[in-house]
Amino acid sequence: MKEEDMGKRKNLRIMICPKCGRSNDEVAFHGFVCIDDFLAEKKMKIPSKILLQICKYQDKMNARNNPKAWVVSWREIMDQIANSIKIGGAEVICRDVNLERKIAVVDVIFDGDEKNKITKEIPLDVRYTLCDIHTKSVRGYYESIIQIRPPEGWKPETSEEEEQMKNDIKRKADKIISSLQAVQPDIYIKREQLKKGIDLYTSSTASTFKALSLLGIKIIRSKKLWTMKEGKELYRTTFIIRINK
Ligand SMILES: [Zn+2]
Ligand SMILES: [Zn+2]
Repeated sequence: MKEEDMGKRKNLRIMICPKCGRSNDEVAFHGFVCIDDFLAEKKMKIPSKILLQICKYQDKMNARNNPKAWVVSWREIMDQIANSIKIGGAEVICRDVNLERKIAVVDVIFDGDEKNKITKEIPLDVRYTLCDIHTKSVRGYYESIIQIRPPEGWKPETSEEEEQMKNDIKRKADKIISSLQAVQPDIYIKREQLKKGIDLYTSSTASTFKALSLLGIKIIRSKKLWTMKEGKELYRTTFIIRINK
């Protein structure tokens, strides 16, 4: 045998799959059959491709093709991938998600025995799109507005006073934003600087209420019908916050 032929021979022992006739040079084996026939025998449902959506803002991902399944960590994505593979009597663990090669690597362990393990690479259909929160924000859908304003009837006498009030409002806005993000890390907030104060638009009324309560801020609340969508009434809540003086 010539030397270059020797290099090509990966397996010392040639095995032929009794089901499909391929050899272990062409396909990986498990026991005496090729991996594909082994899996077919186990009635394993491994998807030929998994859709992995990544938000263009890089904040959330979704491997379940379900608009409610957006998650923030790779750990959760790996769990979603593992859960999409159903095999009776086997444990599935997703070991790696490789975006460059666009594959997910999964281990399938039979009968709880590490020696009885096969590793599969599943192609990923990676698409960059918008997550639930960013979809809302792009549509201009905000559930609440927080309006931070000077005390009622306040009029500055000097430019220093005016400057001081501007700073107080800015500090209050920063504090509220940190509280909102602590309550709901993926909340969408749009900050708007106005002449009369600052407006914060948020994607969740429940989280806004919680964040303001945590800060012990006295609020005046009003709820307004904003629009109708598919027969559902959508309300937008306005929270007015006045700086104490
Ligand atoms: Zn085979
Ligand atoms: Zn997003």
